[in-house]
Amino acid sequence: MYGLSKDDLELQARAREFVDSLIPYEVEAEMNGGKLPDEVDRQSRSAARALGLMATNMPVELGGGGCTMLQQVLVQEQVGRVTNALAWMLSTPPSWFAPVATEYQIERWLRPTVVGVSVECYAITEEGAGSDVDAIEATARREGDEYVLDGVKWHVTSYNEATWGFFQAKLTEGRNAGEHAMFIFDIPTPGVRVVRTPAYTHTINHHHPILAFESVRVPASHLVGEEGGGMAFAYEWFRFERFMVAARCLGAAERLIEEATSFAKQRVASGRPIIEHQLIQAMLADSLTELFAARSMLYAAATAADDGADTKVQHAHASMAKLYASEMAGRVADRALQIFGGRGYMRENVAERFWRELRVERIWEGTSEIQRTIISEQLAKRGATNLV
Ligand SMILES: Cc1cc2nc3c(=O)[nH]c(=O)nc-3n(C[C@H](O)[C@H](O)[C@H](O)COP(=O)(O)OP(=O)(O)OC[C@H]3O[C@@H](n4cnc5c(N)ncnc54)[C@H](O)[C@@H]3O)c2cc1C
Repeated sequence: MYGLSKDDLELQARAREFVDSLIPYEVEAEMNGGKLPDEVDRQSRSAARALGLMATNMPVELGGGGCTMLQQVLVQEQVGRVTNALAWMLSTPPSWFAPVATEYQIERWLRPTVVGVSVECYAITEEGAGSDVDAIEATARREGDEYVLDGVKWHVTSYNEATWGFFQAKLTEGRNAGEHAMFIFDIPTPGVRVVRTPAYTHTINHHHPILAFESVRVPASHLVGEEGGGMAFAYEWFRFERFMVAARCLGAAERLIEEATSFAKQRVASGRPIIEHQLIQAMLADSLTELFAARSMLYAAATAADDGADTKVQHAHASMAKLYASEMAGRVADRALQIFGGRGYMRENVAERFWRELRVERIWEGTSEIQRTIISEQLAKRGATNLV
């Protein structure tokens, strides 16, 4: 089905088996702030490396899997099948970074991240700038061989796990004043302070603190690419991540449908298994139909990217896939919770966890409203026939 090759199917099976090994730890993690037991975490990371599932998005020369976009989607789809972000350990370092990184940056930050020894985070969003990244107020100014960074960043995911991060700011001086630039900062770095770590709806071991950057000095060698390149890197990352968010939503929806179907077959109410009640059947049928539509769309979009589709067309495809898959998964989680009845409202239930966790998929990496804006802009420019 879907024209998957033998290699694709083999990679998909490997990823599925790996993720299946994490599912039994979901409830324990939910009760423990999203943390896996230390030994399980260690063993799983080495299993992931042995199975060749780390950094599937990175070139082989840098130690990555060198996978096609479709293959990356297949792996991340499996990652989405387990709650509490337990399979996030199958890292996807920033692939946009490789072509612009200096030799020094590759050796110091990228290679260790590809093999999972280092972890990165992204400090872009601010209190007054989320969807509108251009509104950021963080600043960078050159002083001799250094840049001085200032600003307050929100929702910096994985900061508690990370060893380094990207910081996006506007240049205050020089010929690129007013333009965006991206910098690398080590963790810890003097002047970077956790303002607070808010609690969020999901229970995962990757926190999202608010960080203050107060006269943080980084060597000029920490500038990524050219001054003025900051926004282009952010857009590249969004395109990739939107494909991957969509993939994880497919995995979540499949797991929910399987779990809800299995429950509906054995739960008896009004004298028969609830799967024989037509209102329950409708919820399952709608969910499966929408999953099929979302999967067909994402696989087609990923294949088009592998076939060299124009970058702007890829942006539109990524937005359509993320929009549809995240909204579909939200509907599926809501129906699954309903099928489980009172049990579905308990934290030990898979539908309850996904119902909370999937909500953010409509917000991060561009909200559903922003995806619609991008899709309609491309429609106006290119016409429907050239997009779908
Ligand atoms: C759990 C979590 C983790 C995150 N991790 C990171 C991270 O690691 N690094 C990072 O930099 N950021 C991160 N983010 C930030 C995330 O990318 C932003 O929250 C998101 O882009 C939305 O920005 P905002 O929250 O400021 O909402 P706003 O931009 O203020 O939007 C508010 C509402 O207005 C709507 N809206 C805004 N603009 C328009 C428009 N032009 N047309 C129509 N409607 C519009 C939005 O869709 C939304 O409904 C994270 C967020 C969350 C919740």
